[in-house]
Amino acid sequence: MSFTAVYLTKDGDLFSAELKHLEDNVLDSNPLSEGEVVVRIEHSCINYKDGLAIANRSPVVRVWPMIAGVDGAGIVESSSAPKWKAGDRVVVTGWGLGETHWGCLAQRARLKADWLVALPGSFSTADAMSVGTAGFTAMLCCLAVRNEGVTPTSGDVLVTGASGGVGSVAVSILSSWGYRVVAATGKLNEADYLLALGAAEVLDRATLAAPGKPLQKERWAAVVDSVGSHTLANACAQTRYGGIVTACGLAQGMDFPASVAPFILRGVKLIGIDSVMCPMERRTSAWSALASDFDARKLDAITTVVGLGDVFATAEQILAGRVRGRTVVDVN
Ligand code: NDP
Repeated sequence: MSFTAVYLTKDGDLFSAELKHLEDNVLDSNPLSEGEVVVRIEHSCINYKDGLAIANRSPVVRVWPMIAGVDGAGIVESSSAPKWKAGDRVVVTGWGLGETHWGCLAQRARLKADWLVALPGSFSTADAMSVGTAGFTAMLCCLAVRNEGVTPTSGDVLVTGASGGVGSVAVSILSSWGYRVVAATGKLNEADYLLALGAAEVLDRATLAAPGKPLQKERWAAVVDSVGSHTLANACAQTRYGGIVTACGLAQGMDFPASVAPFILRGVKLIGIDSVMCPMERRTSAWSALASDFDARKLDAITTVVGLGDVFATAEQILAGRVRGRTVVDVN
């Protein structure tokens, strides 16, 4: 038996990315695929990080040769861990998949039992990958906002990078929880899409993108930011007394050109969100909240499904900023 995978190799300066047929038993003998559970992957997806790895644009891959794919969803084929049995539907994101452990842009993967989350019943494997790391991260941000005591009566919530993967899901979740969401976007032509997701108001992201004063008019009870840089600095400067800002991304930049003023004068709380090494308890509650509070079909309008052979072109497109929304990969 064999399976097909997106296989990345590097020898000195010589990099190659290809579709490769591998014997099933290669998963049993390779230290990069250690794990108790063999999963027949049905769907994966292409995140920006996958694009970087497949196009060899930044050092995402730490060990070679690597099978790409940060996220996957499929059916357990066999398990030596009692926690899982053949036929279980599972989803996995992060944990160094596609970086230090063979990933899920493949028809099969051998994975650690403790990395897997049972796929909520309402989600197909394609739905789960349409959500993917981006949607999961959005839910982690939204849960942080709610768990910190911000309620729909606290005031408006700002979501930056609103038309992106993280932003779209955050807009949808927060509005379904009753918050009044202001969606900041550079794509004002996507206003109808953001309003349909539940935004109450759409804001031109240019109003947040340039250097601003350390303290500005108080506007936001909470912020979900996937943009970083001046946008995050301005968002903090505009957050109300005691408000919450969650920071998960760097679409504008990795810098944070801010002052401590919002934190020491308004008691604003800045919360960092990481999805890759997120502890299991938080993962399972985020996926179950996604299942109960998020309609993955809302992403249909921005989800494109491609085959394994299409990932090389999609990787280039995502890096060039030409991909809109989410790209799910049907690996079979
Ligand atoms: P997308 O590419 O789907 O969305 C990013 C959005 O940011 C864009 O759609 C755009 O939204 C906005 N944007 C892009 N460039 C700029 C810019 N120069 N200035 C201001 N806004 C900009 O990415 P994701 O939503 O999947 O991810 C968003 C960020 O979150 C990324 O930096 C990613 O690396 C990070 N991330 C972090 C995770 C974690 O674990 N912490 C997990 C997942 C993602 P619009 O046009 O609407 O303004």
